[in-house]
Amino acid sequence: MRFPIQLQWRLTSYIVKNALKGRRRYPYVLMLEPTHLCNLACEGCGKIREFESTIRDMLPLETCLKVVEECGAPIVSICGGEPTIYPHLGGLVEELLRQKKFIYLCTNGIKLEKFLHQWKPSAYLTINVSMDGLEGTHDLIRSRKGLYQIDIRVIKVAKSLGYRVVTNTTVYRETKIEEIEQLFTELKAIGVDGFLVSPGYEYTVLKGRDMFLEKQQTHEKFQKVWELSQRFRLLSTPLYLRFLKGERQLTCSPWGNPNYNPQGWKGPCYLITDAHYQTFDELMTKTDWEKYEHQRDPRCTNCMMHSGFEPTVIREVGKRWKDVWEMIRWNLA
Ligand code: SF4
Repeated sequence: MRFPIQLQWRLTSYIVKNALKGRRRYPYVLMLEPTHLCNLACEGCGKIREFESTIRDMLPLETCLKVVEECGAPIVSICGGEPTIYPHLGGLVEELLRQKKFIYLCTNGIKLEKFLHQWKPSAYLTINVSMDGLEGTHDLIRSRKGLYQIDIRVIKVAKSLGYRVVTNTTVYRETKIEEIEQLFTELKAIGVDGFLVSPGYEYTVLKGRDMFLEKQQTHEKFQKVWELSQRFRLLSTPLYLRFLKGERQLTCSPWGNPNYNPQGWKGPCYLITDAHYQTFDELMTKTDWEKYEHQRDPRCTNCMMHSGFEPTVIREVGKRWKDVWEMIRWNLA
C-alpha cells in the first residue's frame, strides 16, 4: 500500500465525520512552520526571502501544540525554514506522536541524523527529504556542495533504522525529467518509500527569476512525470497528476492545507500572504474563499501546487466511479 493503513483509516473517518456535520471547508494538513530560519539559501525558496525581517522568530513549543489542537487536522507537516534547527523539534515530534497525529517532517537532511537516533520509527512519522536532482543539480539549487551525498547518506541511515522516508522534488523550468528518472532510480535502490513531485511556485518576492513554469510548460513537463508514475511510487494522486498534465480541471482548496508560522495563521494560503490572523477561526471566516478557490487573483495564474489542489482531489474523487477505481488501484499498487 502507498500509505500506512492507520493514515488511510484516520483520514477516511475524518472525512466522513466532517461530511456528516455538513462542513464544506475544513483542514486536512496543518503546515506548521515553527521557524523560517534555515541553514541553506536555496535559489527557489520564497519563504526565507519573504520572512527575512522575522527570520529568527521561533514559536514556543506550547504554541505549536496549541495550534495543532486548534486546527484539528489529522496530519501535521512540520516545515519551515528548516525544522531540524528548531530547538524544540524533538519534544514537538514526541508529543505529536503521543497524540497519534500523522507527521510529515520536511527537511533538507543536513541535521536530521541525531533525531533519527532519538526517535523510534512509527507509522505516524514520515521523513520527507527534499531532493531536486542528481548531485550537480541538487548541490547547485541548494548552493551547497556535497549536500547530495549528505542526503543520500542520511536517507540510508533512516532506512536502516526502519523509518518511512519519502522525497520531495520541485520541478523548475530547467528540470530535465530524464534526470528525475535517474534520481528516482537511485533513491528507489536505497529504499525510499515514495516520491512527491510538484511544480515550483513563483513567490512574489521571486518575481522575474526565469526559473518557474507557466501553466503550459507545467502540462508538458508533467506529461513525462505521468510516465514516471507508471514505474515509480509517486505519492501525488493520479487525479492531481492528470490536472498537472492538463487533462483535468480542478478548483483550488487553499483551506485544505492551512499554514501557521511565527506571525500567526497565514491567509489566504500557503503560498500567498495577505494577512496573518491570531486564530484559525478568523482565518476561516475572514478569507474570501470563493475568490481563491476560483483563482481570481493574479498570483494564482500559474499556480498548480499540491497544497492547493490535492485537497480538492479528496472532494472530487467520490464524484465519479472511474476516479474512485483509479484511486483504489493506485493506493494498492
Ligand atoms: S491557486 Fe490556490 S494555492 Fe495557488 S496561490 Fe492561488 S489560492 Fe494559493
